[in-house]
Amino acid sequence: YCPVGAITARSEVDAVLRELEGKRKVMVACTAPATRVAIAEEVFMGEGENEEGRMVAGCGILGWTTGFDNVFDTNFSADLTIMEEGSELISRLNGSGPWPMLTSCCPGWVNLVEKSHPELIPNLSTARSPQAMLSAMVKHPFAKKIGRDPADVCVVSVMPCTAKKHEAASDDFTFTDDKGRKVRETDHVITTRELGHIFRLLRVPLAQLKPSDYDPTLGVATGAGVIFGVTGGVMEAAVRTAQVLTGVESPIPLGALHDVRGLQGVKSATVAVKNAKGEEVPVRVAVAHGGRNVKELLKKMEKKEVEFDFVEIMMCPGGCIGGGGQPKSKSRDILQKRMAAVYDEDERKVLRRSHENPMIHELYKEFLGAPLSETAHHYLHTHYHDRSHTHDPTPETRGDGKPGAR
Ligand code: SF4
Repeated sequence: YCPVGAITARSEVDAVLRELEGKRKVMVACTAPATRVAIAEEVFMGEGENEEGRMVAGCGILGWTTGFDNVFDTNFSADLTIMEEGSELISRLNGSGPWPMLTSCCPGWVNLVEKSHPELIPNLSTARSPQAMLSAMVKHPFAKKIGRDPADVCVVSVMPCTAKKHEAASDDFTFTDDKGRKVRETDHVITTRELGHIFRLLRVPLAQLKPSDYDPTLGVATGAGVIFGVTGGVMEAAVRTAQVLTGVESPIPLGALHDVRGLQGVKSATVAVKNAKGEEVPVRVAVAHGGRNVKELLKKMEKKEVEFDFVEIMMCPGGCIGGGGQPKSKSRDILQKRMAAVYDEDERKVLRRSHENPMIHELYKEFLGAPLSETAHHYLHTHYHDRSHTHDPTPETRGDGKPGAR
């Protein structure tokens, strides 16, 4: 599975259609932040259009099949990621690192660390990616709530990313149920292009559909979840919430990290975050996207030419909006249009910080306890493997540095 899209990723369209036609399972679709601002290109409805509502409606009907039973929003689990990763940052600030803390939501980046920079494994946040978090919440508390075995629920993750197919197939995200069956938390990953293929194949009239909302059970998200789809978004979302997680009532202002927005290859800023003692701690943050920029930043960090406390890495140019599973485009400004659609959506949201999400609070109350609790660690965190000495054909990066095109 190549995050670059240079090697054709195995399509799971047939497998998903078979599951939908057989309909022996509860069919659940989970769609990523960046998919909604690119799916319109796949069905000839324009560039940089946010078609979230029609995409959700389309997933519910799907031609001759009976469609998905539930459509959940991976933006919701992006909010959950911030609660866990932000808490991890605060716990490192109150302790002793290790520094810099590195984001872990991009499987292309995790592959690069495991294969080429295993010395950085302790620096990676242990928080799972939003895909892995949401699938765990579907297969465990949600399946229990609807009275079904996890094996009877089929999770189809719709991603801008081909590397997410590799992540979903990992043993780390597979468990043994009480009947001794091996159960994958994410059953299938289809890309934005593959969802477009399904819509075209099943003649779903997306443009004519009345927009629908996500199922609120795991489908309510804040603006912080939305911006996960662009470079700098994870960092900005984390900073919006981090201070509140220390017990300080007032959050850092929304515009505090605008410096890490945009398509510049490496961006940096310093932001003051109050720790548990109320002391202001300057946190030096950096953001890099695209294989070349990431490798350059790593080199500089290794030589100690630059020092940071918290670093966001996304392997595709522009972040997930330019992922290997997004619609192909020759337009140079396509990333700008998708990025503008993401920030528009953030600004339209009433709630723009992850800790303000009422459904996240409900999930902690009913199931997870608190951020970094034992239950949260079990379902929302992971560990990494030094694979520098093993042969693994998984390509490590997108690495072509070209926006939105493959
Ligand atoms: Fe996948 Fe690319 Fe997003 Fe990383 S940046 S999660 S490889 S789409």
